[in-house]
Amino acid sequence: MKSTMMDVPLLIPEIVERARNFFAEREIVSLVAGKNEQGQPVAQTHRTTYGEVAGRALRLARALTAAGVQPGARVATLAVNSYRHLEAYLGVPSMGGVLHTVNIRLHPDQVCWIINDAEDQVLLIENLFAGMIPTIQAGCPSVKKIVVLGPLPVPIEGVDDYDTWIMQHEPQTRYPEIQETDAAGMCYTSGTTGNPKAVTYSHRSTILHSLASAPKDALNVGQSDAVLPIVPMFHVNAWGLPYTCSLYGAKLVFAGAFSDGPTLAKLMQDEQVTITAGVPTIWMGLLAELDRAREAGAPYRLPLERLVVGGSAAPEALIRAFWERHQLKLAQAWGMTETHPLGTVSVLPPDVGFGSDEGFTLAAKQGVAVPTVQLELLSDDGELLPHDGKTMGRLIARGPWIAGSYFKGTGQSNFLDIGGQQWFDTGDIATLDARGFMHIQDRAKDLIKSGGEWISSVDLENALMAHPTVLQAAVIAMPDPKWDERPLAVLVLRPGAPQPSHAELTEFLAPKFAKWWLPDAYEVVEAIPIGATGKFLKRELRDQFSEKVAGGTAVR
Ligand code: AMP
Repeated sequence: MKSTMMDVPLLIPEIVERARNFFAEREIVSLVAGKNEQGQPVAQTHRTTYGEVAGRALRLARALTAAGVQPGARVATLAVNSYRHLEAYLGVPSMGGVLHTVNIRLHPDQVCWIINDAEDQVLLIENLFAGMIPTIQAGCPSVKKIVVLGPLPVPIEGVDDYDTWIMQHEPQTRYPEIQETDAAGMCYTSGTTGNPKAVTYSHRSTILHSLASAPKDALNVGQSDAVLPIVPMFHVNAWGLPYTCSLYGAKLVFAGAFSDGPTLAKLMQDEQVTITAGVPTIWMGLLAELDRAREAGAPYRLPLERLVVGGSAAPEALIRAFWERHQLKLAQAWGMTETHPLGTVSVLPPDVGFGSDEGFTLAAKQGVAVPTVQLELLSDDGELLPHDGKTMGRLIARGPWIAGSYFKGTGQSNFLDIGGQQWFDTGDIATLDARGFMHIQDRAKDLIKSGGEWISSVDLENALMAHPTVLQAAVIAMPDPKWDERPLAVLVLRPGAPQPSHAELTEFLAPKFAKWWLPDAYEVVEAIPIGATGKFLKRELRDQFSEKVAGGTAVR
C-alpha cells in the first residue's frame, strides 16, 4: 500500500530561501587578503549577512542564465573559503547549474585536465590565482566565460569582475524546474592512482546530507553556533558545512587563504567560534599556537565546543593534548569525496567519559555511521566479515548520499552488487565493533602485508606521534625478500629534539604492538611530502626510499 504522504522534492533552493527569509541578519565573516599601510599583505575582515549573500547568489543565478548557461551545465570555482564562494554554492544550483569546485592546490595542467573532463562552461576564479588564467584560456576550450572573484590590480582581457557582473543583474525571482535527483555539485577525487574521477552530488543528497550533519551526534550545528570550516570549500564541499550552516542559520566564519595557527586562533576568539573543522595538520598548528600563548601568560579565550578532525587519522596523542592542555574536544569524522563526505563521527556513548583512557581510544577511532549510512567489511573473497573490533576488511558503504557511480561511468569496479544491493568499495581497510565504531587501519594500497598478515601503518603512525621527539610519522611498506613487505617509519622530529635511537623507538612501541609489527627501520627527514588535500603522499615516500633499498643502502 502506498503512503498518504506528499512527495515533495528536496532541492537546494530550500536552503537559499531559509537563509534569505529566516536568517537574513545572521552574520557571515570572511578573512580577505588586504594590504597594510606599509603595503604588506595582511588579513582583513569582511562582514556580510545571509540576507545579502542569498540576494547576491540569486543575482549570480540570473547572470549565469543571461550568459546562456543552461541547467545541467557545469560552473567551476577555483576559490578559497569566502562569502563569494558561498554565493556560488547557493547561486549555481539555484539556476539548475552544477557547481564544480576545483582544487586550487593542483598543478595548472591537472586543473586544465579536470576542467576539460568536466566540460566546465564558466569559471569563477579568485583574484589570488589570476596567474592561471592564460593557461586556462589557452587549454580549456569549453570555458566560455571567466569571472574573477575580488579586485584585480590590472584588468585582464576577456575576463569579468564578479561584483560588477552580478550587480548588473536583478536577483532571480523564480527557480527553474529542477528534479531532486539532478546534479547540483561536482567534485573530483584526489586521484592518488590514475586520473581523478568525478562524483556529482544531487539536490536530494545535498539536502539529506545537510539535515543529517547538523544533529548533536554528528557535527552539532545549530542557529546559535559560529562555525569556521577550515577544510577548504574546494574539498568535498568543506564537509558540507556551507550548506548545513545555511540551512540551519549558523553564523559562518571563513579564513580565506589563511591557515596558520596564530591567524586561526585569533579569528576563533574574535568571532566566538563554537565549531570548527579541519585536517590533523591544521590542528597541530593551532595546538602549537595555543601552547605558545598559554606559556606566554596570555591564553586565548575560545568558546569552542567541537573541533571536528578528519581527512586522515587523528593521532590519539593530538586528541589527548587538546583535552589535557586546553580542555578542548576533538571529534573525529571519516568520509570521502564519494560519501559527500560525512560517513562516521566519533561521538562517545554516554557511559564513556571523554577524558578517560577508553574515551581517548574511542575518540581516536573514526566513529559510528551517521543515520542512513550503512557500513560493512568485505574479505578478499567477497565474504562479509564480523563486527568484532578485530577482523580487518575492505570497508564498503551504502546510503542516500553515497556515490553509486562516477561521472562518465569510470571506475566501475568500485561499485559492487551484493545480494541485489548497491555498495561502494571505499578502498579503506577497517575494523567495525559491536557498537558500530569503525576504525580505519589503512588505505588498501598503503597497507603493509608482512608474511601474509596485515600491518596497519595508521596505528604505527599514531603511536609514533605520541613519542616526545616525533612531530610527524608516515609508515610505508618496503619490499622484503623474506616477508614480502616490512614497515619503514619516516619521521619528522620536533624542532630541537634529539634524534631517538632505533632501540629507543622499538622499546617505546613494543608494549603496544606484536613484535612483527615493529618497523624494521626509521628514517628522519626534514618534511614529509603532503598532497593537495593535506594527506601524506606515501607514494612519493615509497619512491624516495625504494631506491635506497634497491641500491642496498642500509636503512635498517
Ligand atoms: P578524500 O576523498 O580526498 O576526502 O579522501 C578520502 C580518504 O581519506 C578516505 O578514504 C580515508 O582513507 C581518508 N580519511 C578521511 N577521514 C579519515 C579519518 N578520520 N581517519 C582516517 N582516514 C581518513
